[in-house]
Amino acid sequence: MEVLKTLIIGSGPAGYTAAIYAARADLKPVLYTGMEPGGQLTTTTEVDNFPGYPEGIDGPTMMVQLQKQAERFGTEVRIDMINKVEFSKITGGIHKAFTSSGTELHAQTIIISTGATAKYLGLPSEQRLRGGGVSACAVCDGFFYKGQEVAIVGGGDTAAEEATYLAKICSKVTMLVRKDQMRASKAMQHRVTNTPNIDLRYNTEIEEVVGDQVVEGLRMRNNQTQTIEEIPITGLFIAIGHKPNTEIFKDQLDMDEAGYLITKGKTTATNLPGVFASGDVQDKEYRQAVTAAGTGCMAALDAERYLQEIED
Ligand code: NDP
Repeated sequence: MEVLKTLIIGSGPAGYTAAIYAARADLKPVLYTGMEPGGQLTTTTEVDNFPGYPEGIDGPTMMVQLQKQAERFGTEVRIDMINKVEFSKITGGIHKAFTSSGTELHAQTIIISTGATAKYLGLPSEQRLRGGGVSACAVCDGFFYKGQEVAIVGGGDTAAEEATYLAKICSKVTMLVRKDQMRASKAMQHRVTNTPNIDLRYNTEIEEVVGDQVVEGLRMRNNQTQTIEEIPITGLFIAIGHKPNTEIFKDQLDMDEAGYLITKGKTTATNLPGVFASGDVQDKEYRQAVTAAGTGCMAALDAERYLQEIED
């Protein structure tokens, strides 16, 4: 059986950047796209914060360009899913991966870039209006609501940070927290309560996102008094957490309590030799396309160094 030098799992900015660097280092990478080729960015419209695109670029186009760039240097992109892995625990060992169509692959190094998936509430109106004013990333999409009234759901550090970010751009931010307290750190809570244009609502949940094609308002319910209130908004931001896509690595790779892969120091190395992680699968703090791309580059360089060391 063929032994790949580098197998890359995942096709977001991290996976494709790893592929560009690995291909240019002659590691002949094979990249498996997963279920959602292009990753989370294919669900966004305009990407205005990736350096080098002064006019902005839409997410799906950017991912097609990244794929072409990776292929230009010889990356083989396969539209399939890896659904099982058997990692070697020894330096220089061969890792095994299995595709959903039953193919067994052997690789000297594996770069995991399987990303994370934003959690949504699951309301039909929320799902219908995704891309029409419902977003899970304030830093990506907040600018489109400049001077407008928006709402954000969640009470963790992400929601608090994004609420204060939005408050600088938007005229008013209504923040919905389902309990009578926030989970965010005290410092972040202070920042929220000290921002005059954040209207913080505790014990409040969404009944329905109002709007046909685009978000026009929000119907919300106080879960203590059962009072229903409707407010006009043009954007709704969901910030109730992310789930890293690490199910298949359980019991083999070190993860934190939320399932994010743990990497060593400033490198992308996991606890197993020859297995590296890049992008949102190992980053719950920054979660930006450009930071994912940066760690993808690092993973390819780390893989190259590892291969060099086992050859020496
Ligand atoms: P968290 O899991 O910490 O918080 C999720 C929030 O969403 C909670 O307030 C939770 O409410 C709420 N929530 C969950 N499900 C629902 C629902 N169905 N309806 C309404 N509300 C819901 O996620 P975060 O993304 O905020 O943070 C993840 C991790 O990243 C944390 O460890 C955080 O500290 C860290 N982080 C750190 C930052 C920093 O230091 N600068 C920035 C961003 C994140 P409840 O409390 O009721 O369960």
